[in-house]
Amino acid sequence: MATILDGKAVSAQVKADVKREVEALAGRGVSVSLAVILVGDDPASHTYVRNKEKACAEAGIQSKTYRLPAGTTEQELLALVEALNADKAVNGILCQLPLPKGLNEAAVIAAVSPAKDVDAFHTANVGHIMLGDYAFLPCTPAGIVELLDRYRIDPAGKHCVVIGRSNIVGKPMAMLLLHRNATVTVCHSKTEDLAAYTRTADILVAAVGKPRFVTADMVKPGAVVIDVGMDRDENGKLCGDVDFAAVEPKAAYITPVPGGVGPMTIATLLKNTVTAAKLQNGMA
Ligand code: NAP
Repeated sequence: MATILDGKAVSAQVKADVKREVEALAGRGVSVSLAVILVGDDPASHTYVRNKEKACAEAGIQSKTYRLPAGTTEQELLALVEALNADKAVNGILCQLPLPKGLNEAAVIAAVSPAKDVDAFHTANVGHIMLGDYAFLPCTPAGIVELLDRYRIDPAGKHCVVIGRSNIVGKPMAMLLLHRNATVTVCHSKTEDLAAYTRTADILVAAVGKPRFVTADMVKPGAVVIDVGMDRDENGKLCGDVDFAAVEPKAAYITPVPGGVGPMTIATLLKNTVTAAKLQNGMA
């Protein structure tokens, strides 16, 4: 039986730490605030944003969500980003992705001030992550590293296999693991004989976006299995990229879906927002 890496419990600890920090900043006259931009009607995005608003409220971070219709033009969206960049009362800006078709995500990401880019998507912040001197950590990969830390799982010297090479998860995940002295293999849809790689993983991170894609035969006995996926199965039920029921007995540690990586992602967003407020007030 694997130990469950309980992202819900660990994120509660992280959020409590954030709350204490927010209170300490308030005592020094600094408030912490996040602006969230949500365009269109994607139900999953609305759920993610509601969760972020709730987490902000619990941590004492002021959040304001700008809910824009799907027909919003790129010009209107960029104007809002510019206004938020200029607003000294706003510490962090997050534009929930994906954007509706016709809106250029790259242009919006580029428009967010790097100092307020709490998702760490801007090329300036991506560059800092590459160099290892980052202020903002990409939320999902950093949340995963924090989860490993809290369970005293040290990636140093281990073979970490990341399935997925997206800019949001796979690539920064590989980079953070490399910074932690892991030996990292990144796999993707063109990888030949994927299982030959995953079977050698001490730590396997699945960020594929396909329900129950990772099966037991792809996992080394005693591996640490991190499931980033937030997928819907054939019955519309939320599940991960890992076939949890089959893989759990084989793994040493595993994240559940839900309650694993997702809550850690939000906890990191809160941490980044506090970091932004501190940096903007000359306190970090
Ligand atoms: P993405 O942009 O669609 O990337 C998926 C990656 O998987 C791509 O690199 C793709 O390879 C690779 N892939 C697809 N089919 C494959 C196959 N048969 N074999 C090997 N690799 C394959 O997705 P993402 O944004 O990284 O998200 C991945 C999953 O994580 C989704 O379920 C998403 O909902 C979830 N997610 C969760 C959180 C959270 O907080 N829990 C945060 C972000 C994302 P190519 O590059 O070759 O196409």
